[in-house]
Amino acid sequence: MSAADIAHCGTCDRAIGSYAPGHMPDLCPVCIEAERVRVAALVATYELGTVYCTDCGSTNVQAAMWVCPNDDDYVQDPFGTFGHELNSWCEGCEDHTRLRMVDETDGDGS
Ligand SMILES: [Zn+2]
Ligand SMILES: [Zn+2]
Repeated sequence: MSAADIAHCGTCDRAIGSYAPGHMPDLCPVCIEAERVRVAALVATYELGTVYCTDCGSTNVQAAMWVCPNDDDYVQDPFGTFGHELNSWCEGCEDHTRLRMVDETDGDGS
């Protein structure tokens, strides 16, 4: 394995070369856990029903919606739509990410 094959964490530059090619994460396990904790703390401040990006915790997100063209109404399908990253966009990540709506299960420490 050459040096070029060894990926480094995008945040702390720790070498994370032990992952299989094609499954290389952007962050090392330490930074992934730190980010998970940061997002969970952020989400705990949101009201029920708030939709956020599960990657960065941002609420500056967009979701594709089905619209009824004859009555200008849209059909809400929160989990069918938000839960699929191809139908979602996060301005914070500038990427298609998985969105989630805050519900009663949030903030219980899990
Ligand atoms: Zn790291
Ligand atoms: Zn995001």
